Amino acid sequence: MTVLVTGGAGYIGSHMVWELLDAGESVVVLDRLSTGFEWAVAPEAKLVVGDVADRDLVGRIIRDNKVDAIIHFAGSIVVPESVADPLGYYENNTCKTRTLIETAVREGVPHFIFSSTAAVYGGAGLEPVREDARLAPESPYGLSKLMSEWMLRDAALAHDIRYTALRYFNVAGADPKGRTGQSTPGATHLIKVACETALGKRPFMQVFGKDYPTPDGTCMRDYIHVSDLAAAHRLALQRLRAGGESLVANCGYSHGYSVLEVIDSVRRAFGHDFDVRMGDRRPGDAAAVVANSELARKELGWTPQRDDLDLIVNDALAWERILTTKNSVRT
Ligand code: UDP
Repeated sequence: MTVLVTGGAGYIGSHMVWELLDAGESVVVLDRLSTGFEWAVAPEAKLVVGDVADRDLVGRIIRDNKVDAIIHFAGSIVVPESVADPLGYYENNTCKTRTLIETAVREGVPHFIFSSTAAVYGGAGLEPVREDARLAPESPYGLSKLMSEWMLRDAALAHDIRYTALRYFNVAGADPKGRTGQSTPGATHLIKVACETALGKRPFMQVFGKDYPTPDGTCMRDYIHVSDLAAAHRLALQRLRAGGESLVANCGYSHGYSVLEVIDSVRRAFGHDFDVRMGDRRPGDAAAVVANSELARKELGWTPQRDDLDLIVNDALAWERILTTKNSVRT
């Protein structure tokens, strides 16, 4: 039995590949390498460079490797880009996922795990959000993921396939063993931006708004360590293989940190101050987005191991340093 990981050369996908290999699984990665990196794929995994919507290619991979599960990360993930290019996002995230599900059904792959997002909820408020909360995506990105969830739900009712969709909150950090991490140039995520600023890769950073209805006026998010997220997928795979029903579950820690708390944590990890400026609100940001993760804990038996902001930030900073060395070796 082999697990097919799409987008396995990307940030979360490359952690998933290590998580599976560490658990003794056989892994094949399918990635276009449009944003991912060949070096990010663990050498023990087989890498196929190609598109998830290439029916013949995916069919061949499934048959040749006896794939019994697909973990689907490939997709576009930049919210403002999705607002500027909605049709591109619906094509890449929704239409291609439809084709991949169709191929999985045609080839008799019984298990499908899908990377969904907290963006399906829209602005959620300070209360931790449950899976049965109102679904109101505020961007084509969020909607493209929600439509994929719905296709999976309907396909699972009609065909012999069961799925788990995990709705990620703010994924951050890096492999504690330093094997992979967030490597996208020009990333906009807070912890990555703060680590880059601390290391002098950016002259300064901005806090986007300090007049939100939160305790310190800055936005609150539920930051989850990427290794805990990968572990949740592995548990979801185990559960599906054991006959578990299809499931949609949040992946977060159920508590939020403000932008200022995150920056303080980066200052602690780095040991020095860096240039942080107060800026205007970023359009489209919700005041707070925090998961209720009871369902994942109960259904998957998921017990996070790295639920600690300083730990997340330490791993992110360590990876940022490794990346500096990698890039200077390459240039
Ligand atoms: N943020 C910030 N400065 C930055 C990047 C992000 O103040 O340079 C804030 C952003 O406004 C949001 C939070 O940090 O409130 C998390 O943003 P991120 O882009 O990491 O994730 P999002 O929640 O938007 O998916």
